[in-house]
Amino acid sequence: MKDDTCIFCKIANGEIPSATVYEDEMFRVILDMGPASRGHALILPKNHFSDVCALDEETSSKVLALGAKIGAAMKKSLGCDGFNLVQNNGEAAGQTVFHFHMHVIPRYAGGPDMVSWKPGEASAEELAKTAECIRKELE
Ligand code: 5GP
Ligand code: ZN
Repeated sequence: MKDDTCIFCKIANGEIPSATVYEDEMFRVILDMGPASRGHALILPKNHFSDVCALDEETSSKVLALGAKIGAAMKKSLGCDGFNLVQNNGEAAGQTVFHFHMHVIPRYAGGPDMVSWKPGEASAEELAKTAECIRKELE
């Protein structure tokens, strides 16, 4: 379940040192080397999964609760006012390291805008058509 060519496998398993904020049997949580804000962390499973679609059930069932735990600790320790949990899947979505990871990005009141988008427009008919398109695939 490790990939010898994957840098996040090496970091998660301690072969490459990192600024670690949390570790258990399944996960290591490290600080991002290019932080969007002070404390920006990455939750890395110790096993290799390319993205969220590849996760096993145990990992996916635990990662969100871990994100909440890290975010709550950031609010107390760093004094951030909120945090974003962000998770990119695929190059088109901004994924650059193809070992599943979840960003925990502390947000400070009055700080810069990030993790945001300009709301678009769609008619009710268009929304209904798109919803049907996805729903069919899920049937
Ligand atoms: P992605 O764009 O794939 O969602 O996020 C990858 C993140 O990993 C980026 O924010 C990048 O700064 C971070 N990153 C890439 N390589 C390393 C590394 O070797 N060490 C650490 N600490 N962060 C890394
Ligand atoms: Zn990996």
